[in-house]
Amino acid sequence: MSSLMWYIFDFARKAWADAFANAKTNPEIAEKPERFRDFPKVNKEYCIGCGACTVSCPSPNAIKIVREEDDETGEGLTYPIIFPEACIRCGFCAEVCPTDPKTLECGLNHYILPEFNLIPSKRKYVVDDFLCIKCKKCMKKCPVEAISVVDGKLVVDQLKCISCGECLGVCPVNGAMKGVFVDNLQDQKELILSCVNFLEEFIEGKEEDLRLLEQNDLLQYDVPVSEIWDDALKIMPDEEIALEIITNAVNRLKIRIIDWDESKCEKCQLCIPDCPTECISFDDDKDTIVRDKNRCLRCSICYQTCPFSVIKYFIAKFSLDDGENIHIIVNASNLNEGIVE
Ligand code: SF4
Ligand code: SF4
Repeated sequence: MSSLMWYIFDFARKAWADAFANAKTNPEIAEKPERFRDFPKVNKEYCIGCGACTVSCPSPNAIKIVREEDDETGEGLTYPIIFPEACIRCGFCAEVCPTDPKTLECGLNHYILPEFNLIPSKRKYVVDDFLCIKCKKCMKKCPVEAISVVDGKLVVDQLKCISCGECLGVCPVNGAMKGVFVDNLQDQKELILSCVNFLEEFIEGKEEDLRLLEQNDLLQYDVPVSEIWDDALKIMPDEEIALEIITNAVNRLKIRIIDWDESKCEKCQLCIPDCPTECISFDDDKDTIVRDKNRCLRCSICYQTCPFSVIKYFIAKFSLDDGENIHIIVNASNLNEGIVE
């Protein structure tokens, strides 16, 4: 097993691949030290033409997919050919080849454990420290010890990570370990924004429920994902990826809500100088307090300042466990408990 680990760590390094890209001039390779694999053998009749081998190969010009010409007996075969002068015998192509029987073989080394699947991943695994409970299950499960504790936080070493996803499978906290897609960031942002905007509007539309909510009580709602699904698919047409991104975003989401009940205002104006964004002012003509909602940070300072409970402050938390309903829990802040109305 240790020699296998050697392969994984040493061959996966870009510096190594660069150094050995020109195999024919490197004497060490010419001597074929014991740790090197054989040149891959190609069984062209099994090839499905997926191209995984060419994507995984770290050596330029070592492997190429070719296609024979069609003739009267049928379509020409598609298969890889190996150029020995550039092949560095790492065996990555044989590892990633998904066919069974194998199109590419390189001695016994192609019997690689399934977790060492080196197809370049579109995902990066990251720990969300906000949700992580530090149970370290991911750390214990990781087959390549890519997860460690740094400054009290669980951190994934991206250079060691082989994207097996084992950590995601054992994490008991929804959203604490994330498999984040790295090749469609702009679309992800747009999708998350559209989802958050929808939920924000939904929760702010519950003004009446919020005003009636007693301290220490909860409001709960379920919103079907189907309500945002059409818009989501316009941004991210792959249903599986769209649902995963929405789930990741929702399970982390908290929305703070400020509710102003103007009928209770005594116009003391204590909130005005305390607001850090100057979004509260006094309108002399209308003889009333005015609040610019768009500038509000929802910091809760006005809520804590107001002696007449004009302002109520709520926190909505969201979760999407079953992939179908976004569960919302809203509770009233108890920062002001004890204030006399
Ligand atoms: S995906 Fe997770 S468990 Fe797998 S190697 Fe990366 S950090 Fe380790
Ligand atoms: S398994 Fe999840 S909760 Fe446990 S330490 Fe890892 S990320 Fe944190």
